[in-house]
Amino acid sequence: MATGDCVFCGFSVSSQGEHVLPRWLFKRWDGRGPFTYYAGSTPIPKGNGKTQRDQLARVMLPVCGSDSPNNCNGWLNSTFEDTGKPQVRTVLDDLLPIGGAAVPAFVRWVVKTLLLHAHPLAVNSEIGHLDSPSGSVLELPESALPLMRSTGEFPEDLSLWMSVIDPDGAPVVLPDFDRAILPRVHRPDGAGGDCGSTTLGFSLPNHKMVSFQLIFHPLIDIENPFESSGWATRLWPNPPADLDITGHPVLDAVGGRALTKWFAVGGHSVGLQPGERWPNGPTGQALATLHSATKPKP
Ligand SMILES: [Zn+2]
Repeated sequence: MATGDCVFCGFSVSSQGEHVLPRWLFKRWDGRGPFTYYAGSTPIPKGNGKTQRDQLARVMLPVCGSDSPNNCNGWLNSTFEDTGKPQVRTVLDDLLPIGGAAVPAFVRWVVKTLLLHAHPLAVNSEIGHLDSPSGSVLELPESALPLMRSTGEFPEDLSLWMSVIDPDGAPVVLPDFDRAILPRVHRPDGAGGDCGSTTLGFSLPNHKMVSFQLIFHPLIDIENPFESSGWATRLWPNPPADLDITGHPVLDAVGGRALTKWFAVGGHSVGLQPGERWPNGPTGQALATLHSATKPKP
């Protein structure tokens, strides 16, 4: 049960809350797995020990409904579902390209879905709270979702990448990268905090999979080596002009598993000066610093 106060407005939610994954999505994909949940980069097993499942688990979150003056669930529907649903079907079911306003509508739907799916208060019908015990939640500042509710904008420093995986595909050459360990930064104005990430994959009708990776990196500038080598496409915060999932490079199974391993959270703590971000300096130099500073000790 996901009872408690609405994560968007604080209104007391007496029922079990709302489905993070909407009912139309279940209708579309139930029985069409495999679906895999991850805690960080580790697949979460079911009761039978397998990490892949045919059915999407139900995920509930305290969000107020039509019995609340704020009706945050209605707001979610009108803001994300109504505009995103047709695009989700076009992209993930019909495998057709989209362009123009359809792209941000699709991308915003994915960001919203992953953000709520990995919320610390979300309850998964199979595995309970996703944060137990290995921590795969997006622990955003408490003010983040209320601010999103009032402005309609996502919190800053959220990045979303998309990759396509063929588990039976030919081996590919993966990019050579040093694992980045993201620090915990804090600033005198209270900004900063813990980084977090979540990954959600969906099967496609062509037997490939699409994987979405959402990372919260407060006050940190990050670059994904899979993006610079073409294996991942950054969808947020700057959605591309067009999106064509069948034209996307396809990773093999090994590459699919490596997608979640180019960075880790839980690095050292860094204090920033007012107005600063991490790492400081121009982008190229900053990245070199990030990698050399965070290279695991041999
Ligand atoms: Zn609410």
